[in-house]
Amino acid sequence: MFNGKCVLISGGSRGIGRAIAAAFYAQGAEIIIMSRHQEELRRAAQELDSKHEGRVQALVCDVGDQDAVAQAFAQLKAWGKSVNILVNCAGVNLRAPLAEMSVEIWQQVLDINLTGTFLLSKQVFPMMQAQGGGKIINIASLMSEIVRPGISAYVASKGGVKMFTKAIAVEWAPYNIQANAIIPGYIETELNAPLMADEKFNQFIVKRTPAGRWGKPEDVAAAALFLASSGADFITGQVLAVDGGILAAL
Ligand code: NDP
Repeated sequence: MFNGKCVLISGGSRGIGRAIAAAFYAQGAEIIIMSRHQEELRRAAQELDSKHEGRVQALVCDVGDQDAVAQAFAQLKAWGKSVNILVNCAGVNLRAPLAEMSVEIWQQVLDINLTGTFLLSKQVFPMMQAQGGGKIINIASLMSEIVRPGISAYVASKGGVKMFTKAIAVEWAPYNIQANAIIPGYIETELNAPLMADEKFNQFIVKRTPAGRWGKPEDVAAAALFLASSGADFITGQVLAVDGGILAAL
């Protein structure tokens, strides 16, 4: 389905981003995964390229660092790559009660989750414009719709990602670029390891999710494939929850 397409996935070294990379790889795409830690990223790229076709590249970059992003895209261009599909998946959640949250924590979460999404989108724009179109998929969160205590920076960043997605959709629709956001529910990944290890919280999530289970990274990847497909060419500025029904339930 994606033969000849180049897909850049920030946060592609593990969790949801890695599952998205695997899904696009299985559909014939050329993959570039991006994250901060070289060794983990290199290993992920090697494992993802299961057919040994050299179709997965690793690009080390802190998406919240403007200079690092500029350098990464200079590298991409030096490789002769032009991105057709961008998945902004890199994200962190640093927890602290609001009254005790330092400006450093607030800024770090905003830099990575929101400014990173802006920086990467801006970099791919001329590439997509030159190609006559493209797809941008931003991974938001349930926390862009509803809120839990102790994660105010995360909540603010993901609310920003949701609205920024609509801003891209509106401004770049004339260039045949579609931008949509995915809201994953509670997904079994490292980010949630502390929550999953808490038996009480685990039971709470299973009970609260109408589907009666945690989501899998592959559930989110399937939605990303759809939004990147030509079948979604007239869908832009939308927010798709992949949450087993949590947002639909009271
Ligand atoms: P993981 O912690 O498993 O993976 C996060 C990925 O982002 C890693 O590849 C990590 O690599 C990368 N990353 C983090 N910071 C940066 C940075 N500054 N620059 C580049 N890469 C970075 O998280 P998940 O897979 O669970 O989450 C992925 C996305 O989905 C996040 O945006 C998260 O907010 C969102 N989400 C997750 C949910 C869940 O239930 N798991 C629910 C809703 C939303 P490294 O640390 O090496 O840089």
